[in-house]
Amino acid sequence: MQIQSKLPDVGTTIFTVMSSLALQHHAINLGQGFPDFMMNDELVNLVNTAMQQGNNQYVHMNGLPLLRERLAEKCLKLYNNSIQADDEITITPGGTYAIYTALTAVLNKGDEVIVFEPAYDSYIPNIVINGATPVLISLEFPSYTIPWDEVKAKITSRTKMIMINSPHNPTGMVLSEDDIIQLKEIVSQHDIFILSDEVYEHLIFDNKQHLSLLRYPELFERSFVCFSFGKTYHCTGWKLGYCIAPKALSNEFRKVHQFNCFSCNSPMQVALAAYLQNENAYLHLANEIQAKRDYFRNLMHTTPFKLIPSYGSYFECYSYGHLSNDSDFDLAVRLTKDYGIATIPVSSFYKNKTDNKVLRFCFTKKEETLHEAVERLEKWKG
Ligand code: PMP
Ligand code: GLN
Repeated sequence: MQIQSKLPDVGTTIFTVMSSLALQHHAINLGQGFPDFMMNDELVNLVNTAMQQGNNQYVHMNGLPLLRERLAEKCLKLYNNSIQADDEITITPGGTYAIYTALTAVLNKGDEVIVFEPAYDSYIPNIVINGATPVLISLEFPSYTIPWDEVKAKITSRTKMIMINSPHNPTGMVLSEDDIIQLKEIVSQHDIFILSDEVYEHLIFDNKQHLSLLRYPELFERSFVCFSFGKTYHCTGWKLGYCIAPKALSNEFRKVHQFNCFSCNSPMQVALAAYLQNENAYLHLANEIQAKRDYFRNLMHTTPFKLIPSYGSYFECYSYGHLSNDSDFDLAVRLTKDYGIATIPVSSFYKNKTDNKVLRFCFTKKEETLHEAVERLEKWKG
């Protein structure tokens, strides 16, 4: 049988490629974004208790009602938005799934979606599989800011959606008040949905504020806002997240969700509902993870890599074009095989593989891991 691929241009995600290579060569994995330290014990115990108490069957398809209520309380407190738990929040198996579902809910063949590159690698395939066209705009290198004039110039009658991601993977760029003003101006003139990927909402540094789209009614009324418990509670393997969207959008989202996943695993939802009462668990995250960024950054000063500052996320990027002409992919492979340290080449986040000679490092690791990794890196001289 001939298979006519729906995604003929898609290979294996760079995260799997680099993590497999790291395993094969016993390298320290600063590639794929996940912590190497234990998540919180209390949350683990809450899951155990939830299982022992019999929370092991399907919960409501939109997510455990108590969990949605607690999330709605959190949104009110942090973002001053009275989200309706019943109508506007849907629990999903991860942020990536939430993004796919939101795109699938609204995209039709021929629609255009504005995507900023470098972009998390699921975005473009998720658009293409829905028969829509990604309209690619490069963030300005090396500040990775949004070129709003280009955005305005690329809007057409077919533009259905604009995707934003702050704090941004892979660069750690965060949206500014001016970005929000520009976005408001655009949507006041065009009928466009927004997908706002906010999985790193609490991982934001240098006293910057997370400008969630939940804060702005004129933006939220047209937005799907996607989150990940994995990032907030250091449990990326749980694959649990949620999407917040106004009722009409959530309705469409749920039509896709109910026949794809139906409902997410129950004991973790019970545990998270209880744990969400502990505000400190998410409010202290920015400081905790910033300390890791700073620790890593100080160590990296001793290497010739050039810093591209990150203001949020699990990641910081470094350029090396002044040292070597190797492509970023080749260098990432060489560092893994010969120096025992895995990273992610940032060209993988561009459809045309734009290579600014930048590597992404995940610093959300134990100090000893970071220390050992940089010691290995110091041996590379270009
Ligand atoms: N968006 C971005 C930008 C990410 O880095 C991630 C991390 N995997 C996700 C979405 C989704 O997270 P998950 O599906 O693991 O909850
Ligand atoms: N978000 C993670 C990263 O950027 C990876 C998630 C995945 O492997 N799909 O490293």
